[in-house]
Amino acid sequence: MANSRYEYVKQFEKENYLLQDCYIIIRVDGKSFHKFSSHYNFNKPNDEKALEVMNLTAEKIMNKYDDILMAYGDSDEYSFLLRKSCSLFDRREMKLITLFSSLMSCYYIYYWQKLIGQLDEDHLPLFDARAILYPNFNLVRDYFSWRQVDCHINNLYNTTFWNLVKLGLTPQESEKKLMGTISSDKHEILFKECDINYNNEPEMFKKGTILVKQFDNYEMQSNNLTIRQKQRYDKKLKKQSIIVKYHNDIINDNEWWNNKPWLKD
Ligand code: ATP
Ligand code: ATP
Ligand code: MG
Ligand code: MG
Repeated sequence: MANSRYEYVKQFEKENYLLQDCYIIIRVDGKSFHKFSSHYNFNKPNDEKALEVMNLTAEKIMNKYDDILMAYGDSDEYSFLLRKSCSLFDRREMKLITLFSSLMSCYYIYYWQKLIGQLDEDHLPLFDARAILYPNFNLVRDYFSWRQVDCHINNLYNTTFWNLVKLGLTPQESEKKLMGTISSDKHEILFKECDINYNNEPEMFKKGTILVKQFDNYEMQSNNLTIRQKQRYDKKLKKQSIIVKYHNDIINDNEWWNNKPWLKD
């Protein structure tokens, strides 16, 4: 097979190596989940079981690769943060994104069947993936802020929209009523017309889910070690890491970030 006269066609393949020394974020997003969610009758605006399937899937993927330090997800999407020094597949972009979309689709199906049940062959969950490079950690923080703001905006809209529908408005009427409204208007509609205080909605719906690989006593233990020792130590620590789930504000909480210095390393 090797060295056949046809092998020259391999030269047409082009590989993109993701720039070294940059943080890699891989975001996966479900294909046509608007349709998928209506086909499987998701609770609207938020189906908790479906979110649990997403969270279990992301946690499983994090467990498989040491280089994934954190993940943030809401709705049908998840963003995975890979360490700056990640050398998985020599940082080949196509390998990474195709692998992540496969992992996401396959494990989603696995956990769906475990938690929810059967899937129809014409309505299978599929995910696309993209890789984004960030040269410094401030950008990484802004990236996650961007996704969390997006979660908030969508959730406030969807919560108001679906509660108006529950009150008897048609989807068209509900959409029309919300056209041009700002955040405070939606809070007020929810409070006055639907008897819902948005602030009391579940944190997972409002803030999304943050999964962090936690290395206990990281700072204390890694002080005063040579780089070589530290690398060995990190390897040992990796095995002891656990994944912790949060639903907190990651936009303004500097302390939350500062308590996790390994995310930056
Ligand atoms: P695309 O293929 O372009 O991503 P899409 O239909 O998946 O199209 P998104 O912008 O990704 O569009 O939005 C995902 C949609 O999936 C949401 O608008 C929502 O209707 C639905 N959805 C996803 N997860 C849930 C959930 N847990 N509960 C209720 N609805 C959900
Ligand atoms: P990579 O992840 O780099 O692709 P790989 O193990 O998948 O690694 P491939 O070069 O893709 O390596 O080779 C696939 C291997 O899978 C073959 O060498 C063969 O051993 C095995 N394989 C695939 N399909 C079959 C099959 N139908 N019957 C027997 N063995 C198979
Ligand atoms: Mg989608
Ligand atoms: Mg989406």
